[in-house]
Amino acid sequence: MRTYEVVTYGCQMNVHDSERISGVLAAAGYVPAETGTQADVVVFNTCAVRENADNRLYGNLGHLAPVKVAHPGMQIAVGGCMAQKDRQVVVDRAPWVDVVFGTNNLGSLPVLLERARVQQEAQVEILESLERFPSTLPTRRDSAYAAWVSISVGCNNTCTFCIVPALRGKESDRRPGDVLAEIRALVDEGVQEITLLGQNVNTYGVEFGDRGAFAKLLRACGGIEGLERVRFTSPHPAAFTDDVIAAMAETPNVMPSLHMPLQSGSDRVLKAMRRSYRSDKFLGILDRVRAAMPHAAITTDIIVGFPGETEEDFAATLDVVRAARFAAAFTFQYSIRPGTPAATMPDQVPRPVVQERYERLVELVGEIAWAENQKLETQTVEVLFAAGEGRKDAATHRMSGRARDNRLVHVAVPTEPELQPRPGDLAEVAISYAAPHHLNADGGLISLRRTRGGDAWAARQQPAGPAATVLGIPRLVRAQ
Ligand code: SF4
Repeated sequence: MRTYEVVTYGCQMNVHDSERISGVLAAAGYVPAETGTQADVVVFNTCAVRENADNRLYGNLGHLAPVKVAHPGMQIAVGGCMAQKDRQVVVDRAPWVDVVFGTNNLGSLPVLLERARVQQEAQVEILESLERFPSTLPTRRDSAYAAWVSISVGCNNTCTFCIVPALRGKESDRRPGDVLAEIRALVDEGVQEITLLGQNVNTYGVEFGDRGAFAKLLRACGGIEGLERVRFTSPHPAAFTDDVIAAMAETPNVMPSLHMPLQSGSDRVLKAMRRSYRSDKFLGILDRVRAAMPHAAITTDIIVGFPGETEEDFAATLDVVRAARFAAAFTFQYSIRPGTPAATMPDQVPRPVVQERYERLVELVGEIAWAENQKLETQTVEVLFAAGEGRKDAATHRMSGRARDNRLVHVAVPTEPELQPRPGDLAEVAISYAAPHHLNADGGLISLRRTRGGDAWAARQQPAGPAATVLGIPRLVRAQ
């Protein structure tokens, strides 16, 4: 059986797509390469958000050229947003690539690999619109107890720094019945936590004419027996409505955590970004969220150095950050993305200025995050233990997981294996110390609940037939 490996760059959308890529390869008879062995097929699922995403991809392809020479029959495939953007250019720049496929035709990969092998010729197939909804494709999920569930693909917005609409097209929504059926099937397999996925979940339903569809979907998740936790990403402040806040507050298994991209605190810059909301609306949403869920943790994305950003604009961003009290923030230095309107805007901000502002922002965000974390010391929180998150530290006997508000918690666990939680299990713990970016619970477990998610994880650890080892875990590299 030919082996494969999927290398993933970028966002959760790509992580979810990589699970589908692994699924269609497994369905075609491929098996995942054992860690440390050279796969017969290497698939790069690429990101096009940041400039050095190009350099990183072509750099990795360069490294693989001699490897391919040393492994006759080995094939290389490039998919994702960079493939959708560059198309034939990928093969022109790296003629040892066998297949280039796009964001709209993941399911075609096995056929394209076979055609390339038989015809001894690179295959480039890019579709302008979705061939079939990725969620209808077979999948191989990374986790036994947590899952991404796509509710829409594409985006109708036109933020001037973003290439996504050009590469993933207009928003296409899955019907709620399909989404809920997938979630029920996942819960039957032991999944405890799902994350609803869309470029802009708040406009979910626009395609089938139901503006309230997202809030209804959250409430419907509340009725699924055995589903412990519901999260979602990415919301958009412009379309964030009060029915969603009410649904979050009134549906027990919807988690009190919200990742709401701000991007800038300056109304002038938000206008230039074409983000169709202003700072007062953004802060107003946060006030209403906190009124309904006082313990909600709010995180965000912020871009520093957008073309034309002045010191006054940046000061406005710092003011909104002080008012918003984010639990954490993903902060980015603006970099030109060819093909976006912002790339050709005047007044590109000099790098040293961007760097200096970035450092000030990171410092402020860190101070506030730490202060917000310190409010949780002595509090009791529920933790869902996670595999591959933080660490299972033999010296400190700690395991890591996420609280309901999505904060990372390192928990001191019993030394006796039979008393230790498994990834997927739930426990109540008391927070003993708050660090800037995580919490510690050194007092051990107050209570432990073994879940079907923990059972599913444990079942995966058991040596079983070929099928069970078909995990195809993609390595994740965030395009910085
Ligand atoms: S909302 Fe804006 S930033 Fe997000 S995917 Fe759509 S265009 Fe890009």
